[in-house]
Amino acid sequence: MFLSRRKFLNYINCTGLTAISTPLFGSIQSNDNHHLLNYFKFSVGEIKITIVSDGGFQLPISSIDINSSEENLKKHLKHYHMQEDHIYMNTNLAVIEVEDKKLLIDVGSGSRFIGNTGKLFDNLSKANIDPESITNVFLTHAHPDHILGIRDDFDETIFPDAEFMISEKEYGWWTKKNRVNEVDETFMQMVLWAQNSLNAIPEISLFKNEKSILPGVTVFETSGHSPGHSSILIESKGSKLIIGGDVIRNTYTSLKNPDFIPDTDMDPVLAQKTRFNILDLITTEKIPYLGYHFPFPGVGYIIKNEKIYDFIPASIRW
Ligand SMILES: [Zn+2]
Repeated sequence: MFLSRRKFLNYINCTGLTAISTPLFGSIQSNDNHHLLNYFKFSVGEIKITIVSDGGFQLPISSIDINSSEENLKKHLKHYHMQEDHIYMNTNLAVIEVEDKKLLIDVGSGSRFIGNTGKLFDNLSKANIDPESITNVFLTHAHPDHILGIRDDFDETIFPDAEFMISEKEYGWWTKKNRVNEVDETFMQMVLWAQNSLNAIPEISLFKNEKSILPGVTVFETSGHSPGHSSILIESKGSKLIIGGDVIRNTYTSLKNPDFIPDTDMDPVLAQKTRFNILDLITTEKIPYLGYHFPFPGVGYIIKNEKIYDFIPASIRW
């Protein structure tokens, strides 16, 4: 059955579906893949969540797994109808509304990083969220696509009055004196970006292991991808959501071959262990998951299918 264009537009207008109706078409028509990838609203119990896109960027396919040959990676990508010359990374930030607080998870890349990123403020405005109303910012880790947006184009810190938090381990690792001289040359820029970003924050609280930061919001360490990478558990009225940052990187690579080790996992062995722990938890307890780099809006269920995993994206019922 084909709907007329007018009927179709009426339909999406009355269901409020405009934000989620086109990513699939967008990816087929264009490599830019940023058509209407702006925001997606849903609730976990009484907690309101808005996924706000910061845009996206491409990485070379060699970044998918440190142990695979290019030929094998291309075969894998072809099997899942993915482009064979790059991997596309969406960046899905979350705004969590609890009582009178608005907590933002990560700040994105800003305008100084690669690709078509730095869309946070445009998309907050499309989602009708006043940037001034952000009271708290939690940083999952200090990689540039999660933190570099902390300085705007005028070098001013965004959300200067918000309360910032990151894990003590993550903060300590990146800000260690002389760190830049202890890493490989290829990694120096990452250290400088992280230090420059963390230093822009007037005051930052640190936590260890696990901490409840707002009613129904608990942050916990999920190290491996970075030294103190952290995730967030949202719980309200019996509903849950895990926001896992980069623990699981991509639905068509990390889930379809959980043995892939992305080249950005700083401790590959620990990252793998953490990934399987989180996968065990969310598949056994049926907890929905938000992946920072999953196809927008990046939220849905993950189910185990023998040795691989399937991602069931959020649908209209959310
Ligand atoms: Zn990332």
